[in-house]
Amino acid sequence: MPSIFARIINGEIPCYKIAEDDRYFAFLDINPLAEGHTLVIPREETDYIFDLNDKLLAGMMVFAKKVALAIDKTMPCKRVGMAVLGLEVPHAHIHLIPINELGDIDFMKPKLKFTPEEFKATAAKIRAAL
Ligand code: 5GP
Repeated sequence: MPSIFARIINGEIPCYKIAEDDRYFAFLDINPLAEGHTLVIPREETDYIFDLNDKLLAGMMVFAKKVALAIDKTMPCKRVGMAVLGLEVPHAHIHLIPINELGDIDFMKPKLKFTPEEFKATAAKIRAAL
């Protein structure tokens, strides 16, 4: 059974896409901690990020860097924070989250709600800065 993220890559489940290439894919988190909260995933379906081979893991960082810099340019924040949890979805992923202070990256906090139009507008802004 493919993971929910594999189904997003395949277009079976819609997403607000930010970027993709032949190995990686980035899209907005549907339950964001901040506007612009983005997930970066490898196309290869591996559950645990540290089971990825070195080349794929290193390439994922470089891909995440490009996305993070575009988020940084477009979302008001001091930094783009990066986190790896993987407790919910068994498909390796990096969270990129615009942050201003330590508490902004607390996954226990209530998530933000945006309308589809707001998600679309956020994704378009980030994509335009890539
Ligand atoms: P983690 O596995 O790192 O604990 O959390 C998985 C993340 O994926 C959560 O932040 C959750 O909001 C996000 N997520 C789960 N299902 C979907 C989905 O169908 N679409 C999108 N865009 N994000 C999802």
